[in-house]
Amino acid sequence: MPYGYRSCWSTPILSHQGAVLGVFAMYSMTVREPIEAETRLIDFTTHIAGIAIERKLAEDQIHFMANHDVLTGLPNRALLEDRLSQAILYAQRYDRWVTVVFIDLDNFKLVNDTLGHNAGDELLKTVAGRMVECVRATDTVVRLGGDEFVIVLFDQPTNVDLISETLQMIRAAIAAPVHIGEHHLRTTASIGIANYPNDGASPEALLANADAAMYRAKELGRDNFQFYTPEFNSRAHEKFVLQGELRNAVARSEFVLLYQPQVDLRSGRVFAVEALIRWNHPTLGVVPPMTFIPTAEETGLIVPIGDWVLHEACRQNKAWQDAGLPPMTVCVNVSARQFKEKNLVGRVVNALRDSGLEASYLELELTESLIMQDTELAVATMNELQSLGVQISIDDFGTGYSSLSALKTFPVARLKIDKSFINDVAEDENDQAVASAVISLGQKLNMRVIAEGVETDDQIAFLLKNNCDEMQGYHFSKPVSARDIENLLNHKD
Ligand code: C2E
Ligand code: MG
Ligand code: MG
Repeated sequence: MPYGYRSCWSTPILSHQGAVLGVFAMYSMTVREPIEAETRLIDFTTHIAGIAIERKLAEDQIHFMANHDVLTGLPNRALLEDRLSQAILYAQRYDRWVTVVFIDLDNFKLVNDTLGHNAGDELLKTVAGRMVECVRATDTVVRLGGDEFVIVLFDQPTNVDLISETLQMIRAAIAAPVHIGEHHLRTTASIGIANYPNDGASPEALLANADAAMYRAKELGRDNFQFYTPEFNSRAHEKFVLQGELRNAVARSEFVLLYQPQVDLRSGRVFAVEALIRWNHPTLGVVPPMTFIPTAEETGLIVPIGDWVLHEACRQNKAWQDAGLPPMTVCVNVSARQFKEKNLVGRVVNALRDSGLEASYLELELTESLIMQDTELAVATMNELQSLGVQISIDDFGTGYSSLSALKTFPVARLKIDKSFINDVAEDENDQAVASAVISLGQKLNMRVIAEGVETDDQIAFLLKNNCDEMQGYHFSKPVSARDIENLLNHKD
């Protein structure tokens, strides 16, 4: 032997459970065995070494667990800030960019709910592994929790096109099919991007802005990526402010209803009015429903707002009748969230009772898409409403996807042809085909048909020729105040 050793003695270093953690080796220049004192020393030191090594391993493990996600083994939020700060320092120094990519899987909840958590876990692990393969060793892929990931791309070129290439790769890797058991899953992702230094100077700002961009990607229909732009934040801020104000608007009586007459095409008689909500905002003035109904839906505020509309519309209609105007129907729009509330029927009963309005003078407008979300439930609710004596119409008809076979089972009194088909009905052949099909469909199913958004004589001529009986639109009247409706009707007599 090169060092002149003549004998070697090795002793395993064991963990307290007997696993080999290392080896303690002793060499001697002479051929011999250890003497007893040496054996004791070896036993003692391997025991101590075992304890020390085990402790170091446990510390490493704890350290790893504190900084990594258990399921995927990826760094977690705790490491993210650290890595991001380092990447920023480097970029500052060498005049480079850092790209923060915020990724949220699009249909993860569905997988979890339908195939179970094990399948969900498998999917996350697979996708995590693929993302790691797409990036360099200097980049960091982090699991924030749930189905949210962040990738920090280090030392980036100052060029959005080059960055897009990497993102395309990541997106494709996520979207490739995943095989779990006998299932072939395909998941897509909504991705938001913020670059240092343009989109934020601190880790917090970059993450928040990448998150805002991801949110935008979701809004745009998922499965896409968006680079951050400052207006995302102002839009999110506006929405936030709107929500706060909306919360107070019912209590502060800031809503009013306008009413738009629905008339018989031939006689010109007003047989109904549609109640259309307006928000008298303290600083913005009159806010149209399209600006706040979606937010009211999202937050659930549509339920108290819709309740107010129901009560107010019924009260007003009864007041007209009490004032001696010819009785007519008041039509109230019901949104999806309101319709799904368990006690919708109870709320309608209350509104009728409180106002004293007869049920047959109330009509509820449901949209086609609302009904199609869960036809069975919708039909059950519609039947309950119908048995109260309340009428039901389908609003924006033609824009959804009702199957004809389903339609005939709906307890519906009227179809409202969406105004998008009426706009150009005088000249556009496709719109003519849809409008006349809806009219004859209604007649065959014993439903009345009303055309929405009628503005011109040509539109009226087409409707008359095609046997449509009823219309609503600016041609006859815009939505107007309750007082104006009174004047209008008194004037007609
Ligand atoms: P909708 O139920 O389809 O109501 C018809 C919309 O078309 C109204 O807009 C009305 O002002 C407008 N319109 C009527 N005639 C014409 C016309 O000749 N030309 C044009 N260009 N437009 C016409 P509005 O009042 O802005 O309401 C928009 C939507 O907001 C409604 O569509 C309805 O879906 C929703 N909405 C309104 N009030 C309420 C409410 O109290 N509750 C709920 N949930 N939704 C409401
Ligand atoms: Mg309507
Ligand atoms: Mg409509």
